This record gives sequence, structure tokens and C-alpha cells, in this order.
Amino acid sequence: MRQQIAAANWKMNLTYQQGEQLLDVLLKEAIALKDHQRAVFAVPFPYLIMAAQKLDGKKGYAVSAQNCSDKKSGAYTGEVAAEMLKSINIPYCVLGHSERREYFGEDNLTLAQKVLLCLENNITPIFCCGEPLHIREANAQQEFVATQLKESLFGLADDAIRKIVVAYEPIWAIGTGRTASAAQAQEMHKHIREFLTAKYGAATANEIPILYGGSVKGANASELFGCSDVDGGLVGGASLNASEFASIIRSLK
Ligand code: PEP
Repeated sequence: MRQQIAAANWKMNLTYQQGEQLLDVLLKEAIALKDHQRAVFAVPFPYLIMAAQKLDGKKGYAVSAQNCSDKKSGAYTGEVAAEMLKSINIPYCVLGHSERREYFGEDNLTLAQKVLLCLENNITPIFCCGEPLHIREANAQQEFVATQLKESLFGLADDAIRKIVVAYEPIWAIGTGRTASAAQAQEMHKHIREFLTAKYGAATANEIPILYGGSVKGANASELFGCSDVDGGLVGGASLNASEFASIIRSLK
């Protein structure tokens, strides 16, 4: 079975101590993950080592960075390189979150560089895509997301694209409480898989997990994750509450 992933995105929330406590409470639930399931925690940079230590030895649990630089190394004050993440054994990195695109001007070509640097450093990118409200209202979401994938990912060879996790996050559903319906999510995920199939073939496209993000919570996770092309979720707000996120992890197929 394709990997099923519940990924928490803490964004710029929680103090170090609150983060420690959240992980402690969540781990007390002792949710045993099956071979194909993952619970991933995208925490702020200064918490990565702490979180990795807490999750160490817990099958299927892992940490993720929330971003990395599009430069390899050098005089880029304040940036964090993929190579630095590798040097502390970070296995995942969220790339192209809509907040990075909107507030920090990240475009598809910059993201293509970040994807390459992560892969070179053996880090799995969780690559975010998704349309703003006006694009959805114009019913142009499929073309919009296809362009994001094409410009950032389609330079990759077959063996490289297989290492990507895609997260479809309609911007109008992020942090708004307005979740895409299961039917809307499935429709876009199917489209994304078809688009990947057209470029890389069905065998490869069927291996790539496609997560849904946008106001996922304990109450709607099962229905969303139950869709055949939805392979889990990237979760913001609800991941800041241990019991909510535990319930989301339990909803994985
Ligand atoms: C996100 O930040 O990726 C996200 C989906 O946020 P929320 O779950 O709060 O909508």
C-alpha cells in the first residue's frame, strides 16, 4: 500500500517547552503505526533535535523542517541549508507552503531548486501546491496546480519524483475552518495523480503519497482520508492539540 502520512505543521507556534509537552502527551497515546503509516512533525528549526530525540525509536514517527534555503551554503544570513538539515538527520522538509509563497515570495522555480537540494541531501520534500479562492471560483484550479507541479517537479527523473510527497492545500481552506469536501479533495487528488501519470507513468504516480491540507481535524479526517487518492493530511491548527492530532493519526488508512 502507498504510504499514508499524518503531517503536523506547527508553523511559528508554541514555545520550546510547549512543544516538548505536546509531543510527550501525544506519545503517551502510544499509537502504533503500521508499516505503511507515518506521523511527521514539522516543527520550528530550534526544536528539530529535541523532537527527533523524543521520536527516536518510535516506528513510523519522524520530524520535518518547515522550509530550507534554495542556496547550497554561504553568505545568506538567517537561512538554513538542506545540507545542515541532513547533518542532523532530518528526513523530511515541507516546501512551498502557501504562506511561504505569499509572505516570502517563493515561486515555482525557486521551489524547484529547494526540491533538488533536499533530494541531493536525502531529505523527502513535502511539496505543497494549491489554488487561491479566486482561481477556484474561476474553476481554473486544475490548470493552476498542474503549473505548480510542472514548474517545480517535472524536471526530476523518475527515481527522484518517487521520493516526493505532494500536499494539496487549497489556500481558501487553510486556517479558515472551511474544509474542502471529500468530493472536492478526491477530485483534485485524482487530477494530480493523472497529471503525474501522464508524465511519469502509472506505476510511479501510484507510489507518490498525496496529502490533503486545509482545516483537517479529528472530526473530518476519516472521511477525507477515506478517499482513494487522499493519502493522509498536512495539518496546521489541529496539530497544536495533542488529542486532536492523535485522532487524525488514528484516521489514517
Ligand atoms: C497548513 O498549514 O498546512 C494547514 C493546512 O493549516 P490548517 O490545518 O490550520 O488549515
